Amino acid sequence: MAGILLLLAQALIYFGVMALLFRLRHVMGLGVFLCALGVMHFLETYLAAVFFIQLPFGLLSPGSTVLFSGKLAIILLFYIREDAESVRQPIYGLLVGNFLMVALVMTLRLYGAPVALPGYNPDLVLIDQMGALMIWGTTLLFIDSIALILLYEKLRRLLPHATVLRACLSLAVILSFDQLCFFVGLHAVSGTPWDALFGGWVAKMGAAVVFSALMGVYLLLAERNLAEVAPQPLADVFHKLTYRHKYEELLGKSGQDALTGALTRERFETAGPALLSRAALLRRPISLAIIDVDHFKSINDRYGHIIGDEVLRRVVECLRLEIRAEDRIFRYGGEEFVVLCENMAHPDALAYAERMRVAVHATLAREFAAAPTISIGVATFPSDAQTIRDLLAHADAHLYQAKRLGRDRVVGNAPEIRETAG
Ligand code: GH3
Ligand code: MG
Ligand code: MG
Repeated sequence: MAGILLLLAQALIYFGVMALLFRLRHVMGLGVFLCALGVMHFLETYLAAVFFIQLPFGLLSPGSTVLFSGKLAIILLFYIREDAESVRQPIYGLLVGNFLMVALVMTLRLYGAPVALPGYNPDLVLIDQMGALMIWGTTLLFIDSIALILLYEKLRRLLPHATVLRACLSLAVILSFDQLCFFVGLHAVSGTPWDALFGGWVAKMGAAVVFSALMGVYLLLAERNLAEVAPQPLADVFHKLTYRHKYEELLGKSGQDALTGALTRERFETAGPALLSRAALLRRPISLAIIDVDHFKSINDRYGHIIGDEVLRRVVECLRLEIRAEDRIFRYGGEEFVVLCENMAHPDALAYAERMRVAVHATLAREFAAAPTISIGVATFPSDAQTIRDLLAHADAHLYQAKRLGRDRVVGNAPEIRETAG
C-alpha cells in the first residue's frame, strides 16, 4: 500500500510540475518545458534499469512506471494542446540528444579506466550497460511517441468527444507494447527477473489511467476546455497565445486590407479551408455570405473614387457592428466582401444577412447622397458544398440571382426570396 501511495505521489509531482511548465508556455515560451522534459530522460532510464520496488502484483520500477509513462502522457498532452509540428521537436530532440550522449560516453571509454580517485569507486559496468539501454530506451520512446499520437488520432473516429478516454486507451496500448520491448532489452542487458515484466505492465496500466485522469483535470482547469479545436471567442484566443501563435497573429495583421481593415483575399484562401475542416471535425455548419455593393461603379462615376473608397470603408464598419465576435470579414474583390460564420445554420445565416443588408443601407443612406445598397448571396456548409471553393461558388450564384432580381436583397436556399425592405 505504501508503495502504491509513493508511486501516486511521484506521479502527481511529476505531472504537476511538467503540466505547470507547459501551462507557463504562454508566459515563458516552450523552452523551459522542453528542457525539463529532456533532462528527465537520463534519470528515467537509469532508474528504470536499477531501482525496483516490490508490490503485491510483482516487481516494478518507478522510473518506468511513473517517469517514462508520465513522459509519454506529457508528450500526448503537448500534442493535444499544440500540434504535430511542435511535438515533433522534443521527440526528435530526445532521440538525437541521447544518441549523442551515448556516442560521447563510448568515445571516452576508448580511454580505458579513468584515473582512480581516493575513496571513490566509479561504476563503469553501469555506464556500459546504460549505454545500450539508453539507445534501446530512446529508440523505443521515439517509436512510442509517434505511435501514441497516430493511435490517438485513429481513435478519434471511434470516440470523437471522449478526449480523456481516448488518451487512456492509446496510452494503455502503447505502454503495453513498450513494456514488452523495453523489458526484453532490460533482461538481455542486466538479467532483470521475468517477474518484473508482469509487475511493470500492471503498474503501467495503472499509470495510463492515473495520467489520463490528471490530463483531463489539467485540460479542464488550466486550458478550460477538453476539446482540442473547439472554436473560442477572440478574447480567449488572445489570452492563450503561444509565441508561435503570436507570430501568426503578427503575420495575420499583414493580411489586412489597407482601405477597409477587412482580412485580405489571401487570408481567405488560407483561413477558409482551415475553418471548413474544423467545422467538419466538430460536425458544425458554417455559413458564407458574399456581399457586393450595388451599382458601385456609378457611385464612383458620379461622386468620385474618394467617396467610393469612403463608402467601402463604411460598409465594412457597418458589417462589423452586425457580426458576432468570432465571424470574419474578408475583402474578396474591389467592392465584394465575404463573411464567414462558424456554427451557423442556413436559416440563421439568411436572417443574419438580412440584418446586415438593412443596417448597411440605413446607415449609408444617412451619410451618402448615393444611398448605396448591397446584395448578399448565402450558402452553408455542409448542405450546399463540401469545399470552400464550392461554397463560395454556391453563394456567388445566389448573389448573381440577387442582382438579377433587382439588387438590395438577400438570396439563399430558403423557399421565399426576401424582397427589398422599402
Ligand atoms: P453591380 O450592382 O452589378 O455589382 O454593379 P457594380 O457597378 O458594383 O459592378 P462592378 O462589380 O462591375 O463594379 C465594381 C467597381 O468597383 C469597379 C471598380 O472601379 C470599383 N472599385 C473596385 N475597387 C475599388 C476601390 O478600392 N475603390 C473604389 N473607389 N472603387 C473600386
Ligand atoms: Mg462586384
Ligand atoms: Mg457591385
